[in-house]
Amino acid sequence: MAVSSLSASGVRWNLDDLAPNAEAAREAWDELLARSRDFANRRRGTVGSVGPAELFALLSELDALYEDIARTRFYATAREHTEAADAEANDLATLARDRLADLESLLLFVDLEWLALDDAAVDALLAAPELEPYAHRLRVAREEKPYVLPEGEEQALNARRSAISAWESLHGRELAMLSVDFDAGEGPEPHTLDRLLAYVHNPEREIRLAALDAVYEALTGLSDVQAACYDAIVGDRLSVDRLRGIPEPMDPTNRANELEGSVVEAMIGAVEENYPLARRWFVRKAAVLGLDKLQLADQYAPVGTDRRVEWGEAVTMVDDTLRDFSPPLADIFQTCLDRGHVDAEPRSGKVGGAYCSSISKSVLPYVLMNYTDQLRDVITLAHEFGHVVHGTLSLERQPYRGYHTGLALAEVPSTFTQLLVVERLIEQEEDPSTRAMLLADRAESAMASIFRQTMMARFEQRSYGIRAEGKALTSDRLAGVWIEENERYYGDALDLPAGYRLGWSYIPHFIHVRFYTYAYTFAHLVAFSLLARYREDREAFVPAWLDLLGNGASRSPQDLLMPVGVDLRDPETWALAFGEFDRCIAEAEAGLDVLDA
Ligand SMILES: [Zn+2]
Repeated sequence: MAVSSLSASGVRWNLDDLAPNAEAAREAWDELLARSRDFANRRRGTVGSVGPAELFALLSELDALYEDIARTRFYATAREHTEAADAEANDLATLARDRLADLESLLLFVDLEWLALDDAAVDALLAAPELEPYAHRLRVAREEKPYVLPEGEEQALNARRSAISAWESLHGRELAMLSVDFDAGEGPEPHTLDRLLAYVHNPEREIRLAALDAVYEALTGLSDVQAACYDAIVGDRLSVDRLRGIPEPMDPTNRANELEGSVVEAMIGAVEENYPLARRWFVRKAAVLGLDKLQLADQYAPVGTDRRVEWGEAVTMVDDTLRDFSPPLADIFQTCLDRGHVDAEPRSGKVGGAYCSSISKSVLPYVLMNYTDQLRDVITLAHEFGHVVHGTLSLERQPYRGYHTGLALAEVPSTFTQLLVVERLIEQEEDPSTRAMLLADRAESAMASIFRQTMMARFEQRSYGIRAEGKALTSDRLAGVWIEENERYYGDALDLPAGYRLGWSYIPHFIHVRFYTYAYTFAHLVAFSLLARYREDREAFVPAWLDLLGNGASRSPQDLLMPVGVDLRDPETWALAFGEFDRCIAEAEAGLDVLDA
């Protein structure tokens, strides 16, 4: 399909809220550097000695500086992400990265001095009402203190960072360089890994099976290198953990998410108990596809009928959903559209995927996506605007330092908004076959985030365990653990091809952020629980939800979620979520019944 025929053609960012042009952005970096130097000269060495009112002033000044940095930085990112071939955009991106590193080293002293204070001094400061807006973030920052090493040792560790990132780069580069000649019906063509993997949504079974075979064949040549990269990275993380006295490999991720280890473990356990839900669906799906049993390549095979959704219809759908829920949220959506904060047109030179970037108290968030007129794109738009309303309301009510939550909670409002819009799409869809497609897609995306991501977290746990026992993470060993964890999930409801033993080797999260994957599980389950609470008592839920959005990161996820009726420490929360999940699967099954009839 020619790009120009897509309905979001012309929906591009207007960057005027960030900077008028590249030259102004360059000047802004110079000015920020000067301001940061001046700030450091005046404030260095004072964090521990000033009183609460003066510390509040210091932190507010630092926040203002960081907000301007965020604005100038995103101007460079936005241009880099939409004008890959533009020399000015590329130069500016390089300048931004260099300047940012300089600024961060200049401003780092605030956090270090805060950590260096003794507990009594900290308690006295945090008891003062002046510091209340910052109190939670300051307290959370202190939790790193037991694991921070003396300055010289930290510097030595920092100096080794580029050696470790070399392993990360090697892992990514090997995958990025993969090019496989694959014939999807129009003669052999070179394919990247992502393009091959996308064929799992192809309606033709032979193409799906052949594409996955081609993936595994290509990975065979890489798996020793990929295993060596993972072994080096896990080995390094474990040695540094030992130096810092970190007892469990999952602890740093849990701390960043502000989640208790016992809560995460209870959640993962509840997910594993519910694996049979997915198996029920796989058996039903095999029947509707006319198969005895699903192969892995059939897991996401399309059922029902997709349809085109023009950009205007998508905007109306998201607007109606938000307005129905709470009009101020729809107003934020409209203002972002009106001010050109959404870039939806797919075009060459623009990055793939979708994201929302919150900027500052005075600039609304920016959203990037690639709208291709499919139903799934409406869901992506809804997801990103879940992030937008969260970012906007938090920035309105919290200091800059206190608006941004950890990853796990950050995905909750986006997933919740996405579920609201999906529900509306399903309700309003008149064609039974398209309804069946939407219902199946809702159930399968929940399975992908809840079940598959949990399976991956378990794979990681076991890999760290093996490495901690002094055994190397070889390709064979990783393959063994990978297949065992996958079999625990899929059971005998789905056949795994022999090549899938290398399925671990292309997952970037394992390399970049350990235990990243459970955040998706968490967000989807919590969003399901929230949906149940919303249905129970709409009147009470909506204001409590708006409060949560405005509370940003000013308290822990446990305390943020309590007022909306979700107690993370209560096993009932996960039971409620799986009740919703079960309902989703039952509705998807009923959708298939209509197709059969
Ligand atoms: Zn998201």
